[in-house]
Amino acid sequence: MLNLILFGPPGAGKGTHSIKLSEKYKLVHLSTGDIFRSEIANKTNLGLEAKSFIDKGKLVPDEVVLNMLFSFMDKHLDENGFVFDGFPRTIVQADKFGKMLEDRKISVSTVVSLEVNEEELITRLVKRGLASGRTDDTEEVIRHRLEVYNEQTKPLLEYYNKKNLLHTVYGVGSVDTIFEEICNVIEKNVKGKYDLI
Ligand code: AMP
Repeated sequence: MLNLILFGPPGAGKGTHSIKLSEKYKLVHLSTGDIFRSEIANKTNLGLEAKSFIDKGKLVPDEVVLNMLFSFMDKHLDENGFVFDGFPRTIVQADKFGKMLEDRKISVSTVVSLEVNEEELITRLVKRGLASGRTDDTEEVIRHRLEVYNEQTKPLLEYYNKKNLLHTVYGVGSVDTIFEEICNVIEKNVKGKYDLI
């Protein structure tokens, strides 16, 4: 399986590029944020629980995210692989995820981190909030989400770097140019291991 993690702060472009990667390499796009938003729209218990955290810009508790992710993944293990978008977001998630993959004899193929400066992130997210009405894309909540990213999620850069899995792409510029760069990084680092590339 080709299992890609697209990493980065809120607003870095993970959603846009994950969709493009899933189409190009025929992978399942797994966005934990999208799953939560769909659960909220369907007013499920999971959605109700997640909404109280999401609206404040906080992370949903690890156990809730992991249970949801594992049950989603187990339904798709016969596919080519996954693009993980917005997961993992804490060291606990990454550790438990690693063990879960090991149990199923699969692994993370590579991690691509999108680098975008904070002012640009805020501008993009405020604009997205105006267009989409996402309740967590207001300036106050955005600033809190960036703090949460810096405190709880950013340490994963070092975590995956130590495992020699981390690659960085500059995420400002045209979508096509950035996407080409992401694909170059992936093909350079996983070439030969997978038939689909
Ligand atoms: P996103 O669409 O990835 O920006 O996620 C929107 C919100 O969903 C986040 O701000 C969190 O509240 C929640 N969320 C998504 N993925 C995770 C995760 N892996 N761990 C904890 N909370 C998450």
